[in-house]
Amino acid sequence: MTAENLVTTTHNPSEVIGDDVHVSHLAHNYHPLPITLTSGEGAWVRDDAGREYLDLLAGYSALNFGHRHPALTAAAHAQLDRITLTSRAFGHDLLEPFADKLAALTGTEMVLPMNTGAEAVETGIKAARKWGYDVKGVPADRATIVVAGGNFHGRTTTLISLSTDDDARRGFGPYTPGFRVVPFGDADALAAAIDETTVAVLLEPIQGESGVVMPPAGYLTTVRATCDAANVLLIADEIQSGLGRTGTTFACDLYGVRPDLMLLGKALGGGILPVSAVVGRADVLGVLTPGTHGSTFGGNPLSCAVGIAVIELLEAGEYQARAQTLGAHLHSRLDALVADGSLAASRGVGLWAGIDLDPARGTGRELCERLLERRVLAKDTHGATIRLAPPLMISKDDLDWSLDQLTDALR
Ligand code: PLP
Repeated sequence: MTAENLVTTTHNPSEVIGDDVHVSHLAHNYHPLPITLTSGEGAWVRDDAGREYLDLLAGYSALNFGHRHPALTAAAHAQLDRITLTSRAFGHDLLEPFADKLAALTGTEMVLPMNTGAEAVETGIKAARKWGYDVKGVPADRATIVVAGGNFHGRTTTLISLSTDDDARRGFGPYTPGFRVVPFGDADALAAAIDETTVAVLLEPIQGESGVVMPPAGYLTTVRATCDAANVLLIADEIQSGLGRTGTTFACDLYGVRPDLMLLGKALGGGILPVSAVVGRADVLGVLTPGTHGSTFGGNPLSCAVGIAVIELLEAGEYQARAQTLGAHLHSRLDALVADGSLAASRGVGLWAGIDLDPARGTGRELCERLLERRVLAKDTHGATIRLAPPLMISKDDLDWSLDQLTDALR
């Protein structure tokens, strides 16, 4: 078959490179910016033409410590030379230290390691349902979980079942039952959705994919009190908000709220490999017994080595402090862009911002393309909203330079 035939008989885009036509074999579930990255260090990445770009997406917050942080790559390299996978059929010498350290960082009793964020959320849902049946006494298969509109918890069939994003849901039914959706930030609606079948409230304390949507004042403390009064678990999805991003170790710390279960992922793997975990009360996670839940790769030695190194970076509080100080600077500059009419709105905390363009000035995608030309990488979340989440180790000069580029791209 000639290259020409190939192009016409496939749905995939083709690219002409010299005399060759390259037909992509990649599925089309992403619409990336037109750039091919080949290396990265700290807050900077380089493309296949040798151009350098400042990374303001940071792997959707998986790269909180930047690309190839030396302490993280050193931990990974050292572990590659020892043992990488045992499966949980056997123990290994980093599993308990990882659990000890993560329990200490989160102030919780029990740790269940998984891999991706979606798996951590699925695990939290399973634990909450089983706790509901075994401990709370909810009749079999009747458990309900209250979630917030505009949520993003992942892409599995159950997690899209509780999504309000039509693109994420449409065409993938039938949907998993047992979820009640209420508006994010409406504590009265949340309380009204709880009844005797409710086992948990599952929330992102700050909604990342929605555009870094902050909870209204007092919301999370009211939700905590509502859960306590109704004997309902509060599950905080800190997969994107956690591990330093907000200027605190966890977004819940900003509001003085302690969830019963916390879901972690993304930055826990240091941008090297997927590492996630559910942490929380031993009487809740303790309902999962051998055979009821597991994962071939969850808690593997390589993940634990990197995870321990990540936790050690967070123990000193330096990254949280940087996110706080540089975040205040970021937000004051973004507020100035709102004040002069360049942006329609800006919100966020720490080194985490959602900015809205006036749709008359173009789409979020178009702004990201203009930023790309100015060597700044960012990604629209939807419509006219862009999320900025630079690595927490970014220098103030680099941050200022990227904001100069943003200012220029907006004008
Ligand atoms: N939960 C939140 C809050 C997220 O932001 C994400 C990913 O963006 C997930 C869960 C899913 O994580 P993963 O893509 O690792 O499955």
